[in-house]
Amino acid sequence: MSNKGYDISPKGLLGAAPRLTGFRIVRLELPKSDPTWRFALAANPASPGFLLQLYGENKVVGSASVGEIQHLGYRLGDMKDALEKILPQVVSAKDGSVVESLVGPSRALVQMALVDLVARSNQVAAHELLGDLRRESVRVTRILSLKSPEEMAKVAASLVDEGYRDLKVKLDNKDADLDFERVAAIRTKVGPSVNLTVDANQSYSAEGALSISNRIAQFNIDVFEQPVPQDDIEGMKYLRERNPIPIEADEAANSVERVDELIREKAVHGVSIKVPKLGGIDKAAQVVRMCSDAGVQVRIGAHVGSRLLSAAALQLAVVIDDLVEPAELAEFERLEGDPVTGLRIENGKVSLPGGHGFGVSVSEAL
Ligand SMILES: [Mg+2]
Repeated sequence: MSNKGYDISPKGLLGAAPRLTGFRIVRLELPKSDPTWRFALAANPASPGFLLQLYGENKVVGSASVGEIQHLGYRLGDMKDALEKILPQVVSAKDGSVVESLVGPSRALVQMALVDLVARSNQVAAHELLGDLRRESVRVTRILSLKSPEEMAKVAASLVDEGYRDLKVKLDNKDADLDFERVAAIRTKVGPSVNLTVDANQSYSAEGALSISNRIAQFNIDVFEQPVPQDDIEGMKYLRERNPIPIEADEAANSVERVDELIREKAVHGVSIKVPKLGGIDKAAQVVRMCSDAGVQVRIGAHVGSRLLSAAALQLAVVIDDLVEPAELAEFERLEGDPVTGLRIENGKVSLPGGHGFGVSVSEAL
């Protein structure tokens, strides 16, 4: 991935941004169409988060959105306190150093709003600031909530009917036989042409993950995401050396430093890139370059929340040279009440929306 010489750190973006006249932060609570949607680490009937708008004196508005990530320790209340403390300083002093006191999704929220503001002020799409355009659309996967094998297979079939050719199956290791039945039922129902990955969200031991992998490998699984606890580097290494399904880090890959460690330890085949957990598009781009240099696969992980969040991550996805598709940029489809429009999924693909910044529109009525 090239960078064209644009400094997309908060400091660099603030240097390129117009004078700021104010900000607005709005709490979002997007109900799930299926309120029973759950994975191994959580079950919430709605997706909570924030939408931030930064106002430039040139009348341009930069917008971004993130959700809370409870299982990585990023809770809405803490995020709100930190953001309300630093945003007045960002606006009045255009001080990039205060943004560096933020972590994870809070830092990402401010960094992304600045990307949108600077790109819109320059009347270009955000990807123009990030690198050379490699593709105009990206295949997307949909994630299947933990349910009975029969129910998961039914949801899978309806998503394939909608045009998706990529699905991710959540596992939880409450009962490894049940996990096996889930994968078996889905593969039987959707047939051989649909690409499947699985994600256990840390619920297996290394030995357990190897065992279930040996049983489900017959169903042609492309990736086994975060099989073991996030701190179990040895477990990931063990699997990296012998598992029949490639291993991808998600929760374990939650910072630039952690990804560096995973690469040095040769612990994984791939990394799930998520802008919020990594702290911004600049950090995510840094991780992409580190992985590419090391021959580690780069995939865009789930950006659960408003279309605005997936739209921002899409701007990064389209400039990554060796992106492994599908990207997990369609989860907004299972949320309701999104105040953002302009990003659409068709035939299992998301296309660049066009337009400036992230290319989507925030409702005036928000
Ligand atoms: Mg995951």
